[in-house]
Formats: sequence, structure tokens, C-alpha cells
Amino acid sequence: MKSGLDSLRPIVGEQTIDELHALAAPLRGKRIQHINATRVGGGVAELLGRIVPLMNELGLVASWDVLSADEEFFRVTKSFHNAIQGEAIELSAGDYEVYVQGNRRNSESIALEGDFVILHDPQPCALIERRKSHPQRCIWRCHIDASHPHRGLWTFLSRYLRRYDAAIFSTPVFTRPLAIPQYVVAPAIDPLSDKNRTLELPEVLAVLEGYRIDAARPILTQISRFDRFKDPLGVIQAFRMVRETNDCQLVLAGGAASDDPEGAEVLAEVREAAGEDPDIHVLELPPDAHRTVNALQRSAAVVLQKSLKEGFGLTVSEALWKGRPVIGGATGGIPLQVLDGINGYLVYSAEGAAFRTRHLLNHPEAAVQMGRRGVDQVRQNFLLTRNIRDYLLIMNLTLAGATSMTL
Ligand code: UDP
Repeated sequence: MKSGLDSLRPIVGEQTIDELHALAAPLRGKRIQHINATRVGGGVAELLGRIVPLMNELGLVASWDVLSADEEFFRVTKSFHNAIQGEAIELSAGDYEVYVQGNRRNSESIALEGDFVILHDPQPCALIERRKSHPQRCIWRCHIDASHPHRGLWTFLSRYLRRYDAAIFSTPVFTRPLAIPQYVVAPAIDPLSDKNRTLELPEVLAVLEGYRIDAARPILTQISRFDRFKDPLGVIQAFRMVRETNDCQLVLAGGAASDDPEGAEVLAEVREAAGEDPDIHVLELPPDAHRTVNALQRSAAVVLQKSLKEGFGLTVSEALWKGRPVIGGATGGIPLQVLDGINGYLVYSAEGAAFRTRHLLNHPEAAVQMGRRGVDQVRQNFLLTRNIRDYLLIMNLTLAGATSMTL
């Protein structure tokens, strides 16, 4: 059986794979330990599930640890997540204490033992308290929009951040004044995963039939955790405006993430807003429904990602890779992926989303052209090999004691 890297070769080119091997050579045998808050659900889990095996194939010894904590800890870390992304939230001394204690408990079961330890997002950030002394290198990988964080929370986190060797953000606008080197690395998708590989039409049609979605009428789709920052209610609003003039259906599909306790509440709000409308399909998917997500993205006339705040938005690259035009909220990492008027549109409101959706439904040839450009955009910038290359570069640079740069 072909290795993952060999299978990627025809898609990304010889040179890209050779470059990965060259960059991995000085790191061969080094232990790369990733730590995050959930094994399933959300973009970070999606990324780690693909990056860790490929790093191992490159001769590194990569592993992936996941925090275990109770609901209270994840309630607090979800409010940290929201506060970092700018939501005005009151955080109590008790919340900070829950966070610190949750991290201390985890440090008993998760030892920081990698030569490189990459801690993802705020949840495990305080594990740095137990870092080993030099030469271990610890990197904080922030996947969310930290451009306007809650001040008190940021001050609190800064005490931990200064103990890291480097930080990585997904876009230049997320970087913060920090005393440690920082790098900008956009996430990426694996073109060969079940989520993104080519599917035969009968499989796509079977998925639609299974959910009683009419394959003969245009479908608008948003795939996202049920999270207010993803604005599912705004998507329903936009859909209702579009439907005044265009026959279409809406698919809102999402699943739960074990570190996101707000999901059930938001899902209930979405179901209520959808009401009895037979053309709004609210689907709750299990975490491993990758081929289903793939089929739903492929069957869409237009994919929406109408986020109000977004880290990167892997769903955008996933849809572009499938040749779908994407209408995305002009926030976070979405403008890196959606080039306005080229492979989709950036929008600022439900009205804007409706206007652009209508345009795409009424001009299917333009939509097809945009879709083609989207494939190119992802091929050049957002395939996993580029993300791994950036990590390898940063590890090499960190070993060499380098300072910040944009890769
Ligand atoms: N996803 C999924 N099932 C769902 C909802 C989302 O598999 O029901 C996947 C989606 O395809 C993407 C990831 O979860 O790969 C979400 O990553 P993104 O960066 O878009 O958002 P996040 O959830 O990290 O904020």
C-alpha cells in the first residue's frame, strides 16, 4: 500500500514531498508532542488527525495527547475561547481557578515529554507550568482570532505565554505583541482524507436521499459546529430572503465537539428558527461522518460560511477544493481563502449573503468558474503539505534560536 506522502505526490508534486523530507531530516527521531482539548469535532482535531501520521512518516516521532476534564472546565474554556475572540464576558476568579486546577490535574497524566511540545489553543496553555528545562521547545499554537482579546484574560494567559519558545497564529491580523517569537501559519486540508477525496455521484445522491434532500433543486449548505460565532441563525435569515425569489433548500449540518458545551443550546435555537420548514434541513452528524460532510459539500450550489468570528474555517477550503463557490463572513481566516469576486464572496450581513447567493444561483456559469478558481487557490495555498512544511521550518528555526517571521 502506498504511504500517505506517496499518495499526495501526484497532487502536490515531487518537489513538495522532497522538500518535506529535506526539512524533516535534521529533526529525524525527535519527539513532537501535540496537545489539545478534543480528539473529535472542530478544526484542530481534524488537522491533528492528519498531521500526526504524516509527521511520523517523515521520520519524526509524533504523538497526540488530549486533555481530559469535566464539563465545568470546558464551560470555562469555551468562555475563554469566546472572550479571546472578543465577546464581552465577565470572568470570575472562580473561572480562572477552574482553569488552573483543570490544567494541573491534566499535568499529572500528560507529561510534557516531547523534544517539541505543541500546545493547541487556550485550553492546555497552562500545562507549560510543568515544562522541562531547556532543551525542550514548547510552542503555543493559537487557532482562534486573538486580535481583540478580553484584556483581563489576555493578561492572565500572558503569564503562561512568556514561558513558551514561540507562538503560531493563523493569520497576520491575529498576532499579538509578545515577548516570544511568533509565526503565521494557515491551516490546511488533506485532499485524500474521506472528507475531501473525490466521491462518485451515486454516493453523493445516496446521502441526499438518506436525508430527504431533493437533488433536483439547488442546495445551500453550511457545515459547522452549532456555535453562535458561525451565525447559523443569520444563515437561516439569508436563506429566507433568497427563497423569496429563488427555489432552493438549506442544509445546516453540524456535530458536537466534546470541548464545546454550548452546542446543544445553539442547536435548539437553530431548530426553533427553522420551525417546520421542509426546505431547511438541520442535520446533527456524528463526529466521524466525514464522507457525509464531503457529499453535502459536493452537492451544494453554494456553500456558506457566514461566520461572525472565525479562526481559519477549514470548511471553506474543503468547499473550495470541491469546486464550490463560497460565501463567507469577512472575518478571521476566511478572507485568506475566499477572494472576493474571484472564488466566492465576502459578506458582512445576512442581506449581503442573500444578495450574493441569489447572484450565484442566477448565474450558474459564473459559479462554475469561481469554483474552478477555488480549486487552484486551495491547491496553491491550503493543502496539508504546506502546513507540515511550515511546522518543520518553525521547528528548525526554533532549534536555531531564530526570531519571528511570516512563513
Ligand atoms: N465538521 C465535521 N462535522 C460537522 C461539522 C464540522 O466533520 O458536523 C468538520 C468540518 O468539516 C471541518 C471541521 O469540522 O473539517 C471544522 O473546522 P473549522 O476550522 O471550519 O471550524 P472550528 O470548528 O474549528 O471552529
